[in-house]
Amino acid sequence: MNNQLIQFAYLAAAVLLILGMRNLSSAKTAPRGNLIASLGMLIAIVATLLAQGVVDYLVIFAGIVVGSAIGLVLAQRIEMTAMPQMVALLNGFGGGASALVATAEFLSYERSGTVPEGVVPYAIVAGVLIGCITFTGSLIAFSKLQELMRGAAITYPLQNISNLLMGIAVIVLGAMVVMDSSAVGPFWILAGLSLLLGILLVIPIGGADMPVVISLLNSYSGLAACATGFVLGNSGLVISGSLVGASGIILTKIMCDAMNRSIGNVLFSAFGAGAGEAGPVAAAGDQGTAKGYTPEDAAVIFANARSVIVVPGYGMAVAQAQHAVRELGDLLQESGIKVQYAIHPVAGRMPGHMNVLLAEADVPYEQLVEMDEINPEFPETDVALVIGANDVVNPQARTEKSSPIYGMPILDVDRARHVFVIKRSMNPGFAGIQNPLFFHDNTMMIFGDAKKTVVAIAAAVRDFS
Ligand code: NAP
Repeated sequence: MNNQLIQFAYLAAAVLLILGMRNLSSAKTAPRGNLIASLGMLIAIVATLLAQGVVDYLVIFAGIVVGSAIGLVLAQRIEMTAMPQMVALLNGFGGGASALVATAEFLSYERSGTVPEGVVPYAIVAGVLIGCITFTGSLIAFSKLQELMRGAAITYPLQNISNLLMGIAVIVLGAMVVMDSSAVGPFWILAGLSLLLGILLVIPIGGADMPVVISLLNSYSGLAACATGFVLGNSGLVISGSLVGASGIILTKIMCDAMNRSIGNVLFSAFGAGAGEAGPVAAAGDQGTAKGYTPEDAAVIFANARSVIVVPGYGMAVAQAQHAVRELGDLLQESGIKVQYAIHPVAGRMPGHMNVLLAEADVPYEQLVEMDEINPEFPETDVALVIGANDVVNPQARTEKSSPIYGMPILDVDRARHVFVIKRSMNPGFAGIQNPLFFHDNTMMIFGDAKKTVVAIAAAVRDFS
């Protein structure tokens, strides 16, 4: 096929991928965005298959059949809550594929005795280095989230320094390979050390920080694909790889900002080491006594309420309470109460966690309100109903400079007239700190599993009305 036509097809594919991503920014247009981006990808694949240089269509066809079959089964079986580890695995395969392509190109140059020109030697090294780190790093992220290995941060003395030395060694080896395209020994050591580095960089990161790491590894897999694009002279791969690289790093930044932590802090501080998933458990301190109430008490207050803001968190996801929450929301609305759902950007354990669960329970998109928009409404709200959320509603983040979450934007539930908090105990959340909200005069703790308690409150509301 004519080269100009191929390049035009890649350009069209890139435009469709960008338009697709644009549409993904809203839940309403996201399905359309998926379709547009898929069409772009299809055009890129067809253009690549028609380009010169394809050695064996049968092997490619067999790969498509096997890959599609595995993908189809995985996509149908995967639980929504297991999505982060699925993404991690796919990122890893992407990085691994880029590393293999770069390795094959290096070996073919070395065997034919030709010297790669222009940016190609740099791209080969970048493809192998980033691809290998992404491959093993993503497998560790997958294993932590799938609980195949300990989720907590794994630390040992001089960890950051030894990783830094290994990073320097990898860069020196990379420079050797760039300068001498027949340096097979340094090439294999570079690949081996990069694989090891991927493992060592991810094990000190706690399981609950994994979504941030996965987003970063997603960015790496894009960069590795982009490097491979330069190696193969494939502009479609360069463009789509850069898009993935850029969007992954933007998502990582958004998540870090929402937690008021730097990327460096997430990657190198071993947050939560030694205390399991929940992080270091702080003493409750002398904050008074939290008051426990019953679902029936809550029903009495709901009977006089005109507005309710539901604030879901990680506990709602653990209890799989989203359907019960929607039923309670519907019930309250039927009795004339305005019901909205407040979405904190890092509530739960993955980006969009609450949106996904509430959408699964058919909560209308219009009722989901982002943090910045909903916060001014709390002072005018009768009841803030906190369901399994803790850190994202901790007022300490506004005032307590020594707190690990100081500066993290929170949902201002404490400013509502009444606050109901549903959780099982006084245990802390991810950040491992106590929450003064639970001791406020306007807070009513309703202890119990989120699903059972929400069902009990709904029953009490029905009985009371
Ligand atoms: P959280 O602070 O981790 O608190 C969750 C609370 O849910 C816990 O205090 C727990 O208390 C309760 N809970 C657990 N299982 C429950 C059940 N079955 N029924 C009722 N309650 C239950 O959660 P969050 O407020 O959603 O905050 C998210 C945290 O994760 C933030 O610190 C954020 O920075 C971090 N994080 C988020 C992301 C992301 O992408 N979303 C990524 C990395 C880190 P009990 O044990 O007493 O029940």
